[in-house]
Amino acid sequence: MSLTYKTFNYLPGFSCLGGECEDTCCKDWDIWFDQPHFELLQATINQHGGEQSEKFSRYIRINKSSTASGHNYAQLNLRPDGSCPFLLADGWCELHSQFGEKPLSNVCAFFPRVLSRQGDIVELSGALSCPEMVRKCLFAEDDIEIVDFEPAILPRPDDYPLTRELALPAENFYYDNFVVVRDALLRLCKLEGFGFESRLYFLANFANRVAGFYHLEAEAKGGRLLDSELKQARSISMLERMDNYVSNYTAAEPMAIIVIQAVLQLRIQQFPREAYSQFIKQVFAGYEALLPETCGTDELDDALPPDMLWLAYQERRGLVDSYFSNELDRCFTRYLINCIYREWFITMPDLFTYVHMLVIRLAILRFLVYSHPAIIQIAERLHQNAQQADENDIIKLRECLVDVVYKNSRAIDHNTMFLKVVYDAIYEQQMMTYEYSLPFIKF
Ligand code: SF4
Repeated sequence: MSLTYKTFNYLPGFSCLGGECEDTCCKDWDIWFDQPHFELLQATINQHGGEQSEKFSRYIRINKSSTASGHNYAQLNLRPDGSCPFLLADGWCELHSQFGEKPLSNVCAFFPRVLSRQGDIVELSGALSCPEMVRKCLFAEDDIEIVDFEPAILPRPDDYPLTRELALPAENFYYDNFVVVRDALLRLCKLEGFGFESRLYFLANFANRVAGFYHLEAEAKGGRLLDSELKQARSISMLERMDNYVSNYTAAEPMAIIVIQAVLQLRIQQFPREAYSQFIKQVFAGYEALLPETCGTDELDDALPPDMLWLAYQERRGLVDSYFSNELDRCFTRYLINCIYREWFITMPDLFTYVHMLVIRLAILRFLVYSHPAIIQIAERLHQNAQQADENDIIKLRECLVDVVYKNSRAIDHNTMFLKVVYDAIYEQQMMTYEYSLPFIKF
C-alpha cells in the first residue's frame, strides 16, 4: 500500500537546537530501547570499544520484569542527577554525534516528533514539551495548515516508530468516523470571526451533542445522527447563537479556580523540586502577596482563598488581555489545534471526555500564562505609562509563553499518570459533565 505523509506546515522546518537549547530532553525521562535498536547500538559500540562500551554495560540494562516485551526490551538508567550518561557538556548526545540516529532508541532519535498512522496516511506531529517545537508551532508566520511531506525529512525515513495506528476500515463506528469528526473539530478551532472561548465552546457543545450515539461502544446506526450534527456544526446561525451565549456568560462561582489550584498544589506536593513546581510556587506567591497580612498561608500548604484568587486572577487576566489578547488568542488556538491533531480522541472512550479534559488542561495553561510574574510586569508597566505593547514586549511575552508551554506540557500534557489523577478527581467530583464546561472555558 502506498502511504501519504501529512504534517503541519511549520514542522518540516524544525531542527533540534542541541547545545543552544534552554533545556534538554536528555534528562529525567524514561528511555526504553526496543530489541532491534538495543542490539544495533550494542554492535555499533562494540565495534568502537572504549569508554562507550563501559557506559553501555553500566547504564543500559535488559528489562527482566514480567511486563518486558520487544518494545521495552532494555532501559537506559540515568545518572543520580537525572541526566543521561551520554549527554555531553555542550548539550549534545555523545551517541548521536558519533553514530548518527540509526542505533538510537526511538524516543532519542525522534523526539519531539510523533508519528501516527490512520489508514494509508502517516501523520507527523510535534510534542510541545520541546521549547523549540513550541516556538515553531505558536509563532510561525503562516497560518497553520496540514500539508504533505516527504519521509526523507525524518531522522530515520525507513525505520520510524508509530506511536499509534488505526487500520481503516476498522468495523467500528467510533474509529471509522475518527478522521471526519477530527476534521470537524479542527475546522471549529480555526473559525475566524469567533473568539477563542467561543470556539472552545463549539467543541464542547458538539462533543456533548454526539455523546449519546458516538462513542467506543456505539453502533453504526448512529450514522445519520452524526451526519446531521456534523452539518449543524457548520451552521453559522447556530454558531453565532452559541457565541452570543458564551459572551454573556459570567462565572459567578470560583469553581474552576478551586480545581486548578488543587491540581497545581498536587503537582507541587508530588514533584517539589522540578522547575515547573518552582514556577507554580512563584505564581501563587504573587497572589499570596495580595492578601492582607492577617490571612497569610503557611508555605502554600493551605489553599489560597478561592474568592480572592478568582477576583485577582480575573483582574490580571483583564490587564494582560488588554495588551496581548490577539497574540494570546492565536497562540492558544495553535496549541489547541496541535493537541487535537496529535492526541487522537479515540484513545478515550468518548469524545466529550476528551474535549472536557482538553478544556481543563487549557484552563490550567491559561491560568499560568495570565499569572506569569514577567507577563504581568510588562502589562503593569504598559498600563502605568499609558503605552501600547511594542515589538520588544511581544518578544518578551513570547519568551514567557515558550517557557510556560513546554514546562506545562512536560509536567501535565505528556504525563499520563498525572493526567489520570486529574481525570479521577474531576470524575469523583462529578464534574465530567457539560454543565461544568463553560466555567473552565470562560476561565
Ligand atoms: S528539547 Fe527540543 S530543542 Fe531541546 S534538546 Fe530536546 S529536541 Fe532539541
